[in-house]
Amino acid sequence: MIATTEKIEYGKEIIEFELLQEDRKTLSIEVLPTTKIKVKAPQNKNKQDIIKKVKNKAKWITKQKRYFVDNYKKPDEKKYVSGECFRYLGKQYRLKVIKSNIDAVKLKKGYLIVEYNLKTPAKLINKWYKDKALYTYEKELDKCFKQFIAYKIDKPFLKIRKLTKRWGSYNKNSNTITMNIETIKTNKDCIDYVIYHELCHSLYFSHNKQFYTLLESKCKKWNKLKKKLENLTL
Ligand SMILES: [Zn+2]
Repeated sequence: MIATTEKIEYGKEIIEFELLQEDRKTLSIEVLPTTKIKVKAPQNKNKQDIIKKVKNKAKWITKQKRYFVDNYKKPDEKKYVSGECFRYLGKQYRLKVIKSNIDAVKLKKGYLIVEYNLKTPAKLINKWYKDKALYTYEKELDKCFKQFIAYKIDKPFLKIRKLTKRWGSYNKNSNTITMNIETIKTNKDCIDYVIYHELCHSLYFSHNKQFYTLLESKCKKWNKLKKKLENLTL
């Protein structure tokens, strides 16, 4: 499977889309709720023809995009009160908030239990997520990087941040992978996929054929995991 990023012009707008050429007979255009556009086309189809077909659909694509921009539900603002659901490593936990004489967060039997004293539950939970994220990403990066040692590259530094639209990113100049704190809410396979993806960027800047060949060799399920992430709202 080959996936590339393509663009078309529509009025003043540049529409970017991901093109996947695979073993199929027809062309399909999909606008995801995240407003990402995915085009699937037969393997042997000429790229210019595909782009022309997408261009013919530009009006429909912009309409779909606008619909999602208007209706895309933002994750509910958490109130950090007992009963709310919190995600961690792909599982849901119910929050239990307890006034106490200590500040502590722990997971127990499907509950995320927060005992609070000097700090607010919100502060404690966010700090807990951050600590867990750093610890987990560091461990998973070590594991994934083992598969890259043969390429004689330095292990990237790791940073975590709250990113709004991405699960992770890679900066070549500083050799740093920045992971979204929110990625800790997905499961470990998804986290590994994001790390593998970013590690592949340390060898290939763009999402070209070599990039995907490498990714495929390190993470067989990448396409499934990518889809899973695209359909998640946190
Ligand atoms: Zn990428």
